[in-house]
Amino acid sequence: MSRSSGTADLPEAFIDQLRIVSGQYHNRKILTDSADCWAYGYDNSRGRSLPAAVALPESTDEVAAIMAACAEHRIAVCPRGRGTSTTGGAIPPQGGLALSLERMNRILSVDPANRVAIVEAGVINQTLQDHLKPHGFFWPPDPTSAAFSTIGGNLACNAAGPRTLKYGTPRDNTLGLTAVTPQGRIIRTGSYTTKSVVGLDLTRLLIGSEGTLAIITEATLLLTPAAQAETTLRASYSSITEAAAAVSRIMAQACQPRAIEFMDSGAIRAIGQLDRNPLPEQTRALLLIDVDGTENGLQESVDAIMAAAQSDGLLEWLRASSENEAAILWQTRKALAPSLRKLAPGKINEDIVVPVSRMAELIDALDRLAQDHRLLIVSYGHAGNGNIHVNLLYDPADERQTAAANKCLAEVFELTLSLGGSLSGEHGIGFLKRNFVSMEVDDETMAVMRGIKSQLDPLNILNPGKMYPDQVTH
Ligand SMILES: Cc1cc2nc3c(=O)[nH]c(=O)nc-3n(C[C@H](O)[C@H](O)[C@H](O)COP(=O)(O)OP(=O)(O)OC[C@H]3O[C@@H](n4cnc5c(N)ncnc54)[C@H](O)[C@@H]3O)c2cc1C
Repeated sequence: MSRSSGTADLPEAFIDQLRIVSGQYHNRKILTDSADCWAYGYDNSRGRSLPAAVALPESTDEVAAIMAACAEHRIAVCPRGRGTSTTGGAIPPQGGLALSLERMNRILSVDPANRVAIVEAGVINQTLQDHLKPHGFFWPPDPTSAAFSTIGGNLACNAAGPRTLKYGTPRDNTLGLTAVTPQGRIIRTGSYTTKSVVGLDLTRLLIGSEGTLAIITEATLLLTPAAQAETTLRASYSSITEAAAAVSRIMAQACQPRAIEFMDSGAIRAIGQLDRNPLPEQTRALLLIDVDGTENGLQESVDAIMAAAQSDGLLEWLRASSENEAAILWQTRKALAPSLRKLAPGKINEDIVVPVSRMAELIDALDRLAQDHRLLIVSYGHAGNGNIHVNLLYDPADERQTAAANKCLAEVFELTLSLGGSLSGEHGIGFLKRNFVSMEVDDETMAVMRGIKSQLDPLNILNPGKMYPDQVTH
């Protein structure tokens, strides 16, 4: 996506109205200079499209007034956290208004007695985690982008991370939302309590709707008490099959690890030079396992997990002896995404999911696809959920490789679905993947989704061109 015109697209009356509802001219709450707007026209998908204006509201009421003005003038709006989306979700393909929640960044309350925090949507995930630490709590969703992505963006994408395995996604850890509909109405979903069945579950509907149904402005989050003790284990295997079978066994016993991350042989090669604890030479698959619990119970959990992970293909166990050693083991996993850029200039990064028991089949079939298309495919990710980041590496300057990567991508999706999986575990659909959605969602089900979208957004002004496939007219 690349769009670089359009600053003149918006009616002057609309911009004036925005400035009035935003309460002041002085605080630069409305930006229209294209140099300012450019900073709000990109995300981590590396696509770009220039918004005609940017709004920086500071309250739910301001968001509501801005949306009412947009509805009146039929202006497209793209909600935005910090633009770390990998799927083009935060890019405004039609120009219009980028609405950034960055100034709504207050932690409104922390209530340890009820394990609840109320935050504005623009709070950075890591800021919240740091704030909760002295209270002895954390909010479980931990995308690798936690240091710079917002709670609103995490909720909009149902973004998760390694410890989702034990503690769940935003959908499992959010009690309620304040949100603004595309027509400018303020709605409040859910409750302050951990149980409530009053009305439809709009909280779970809005979470993961990628900013297409409403703008989330505040969230009531359910917190989890911090574990007393934790440790990291590293297990090296001689084959993918052995590692995948170990994951299934670990997940089928009572002591659940906090995270199980997987790396295939391509990923191991990519991080080879980074690893301060060299691996046995025959290593073809690696598991990184985090275990947490009580001081007294930790060793018992580690023993149970190690017993489940044993097999003829297990080459080596390593247990971090300190927090620092654990951080070093994790550093290599975290360095993986950027280190792939050294292997090839182009990367299609997917985050498919398969049932855990089908992971070995998936990785074997990916190897065959790599050979058929003469491409390098590197896979790693959240093995305990079967959520694998599949990276198709290629040189965009090479026509053969580019065509092969695009063809291979469709085959990766077909393969995933044939194994009973899903096209995206956490990155969402955004702009880039919307035309693959109908491979997974049938027409009847899609019609219901479109019905909900048009009920909330009859003018189709909120994040148009995202998530829903283009409609084919016959
Ligand atoms: C280095 C890196 C690592 C990453 N690791 C992970 C990972 O481990 N797990 C994972 O799930 N994702 C990961 N991501 C993807 C991304 O960080 C997440 O999707 C994140 O939740 C996006 O947050 P954001 O604040 O940047 O939102 P943006 O990118 O600004 O927006 C994302 C989407 O949400 C919508 N949106 C944003 N805020 C709101 C709101 N308040 N109300 C309604 N809609 C809104 C936008 O319109 C857009 O569609 C990673 C990205 C990077 C760059």
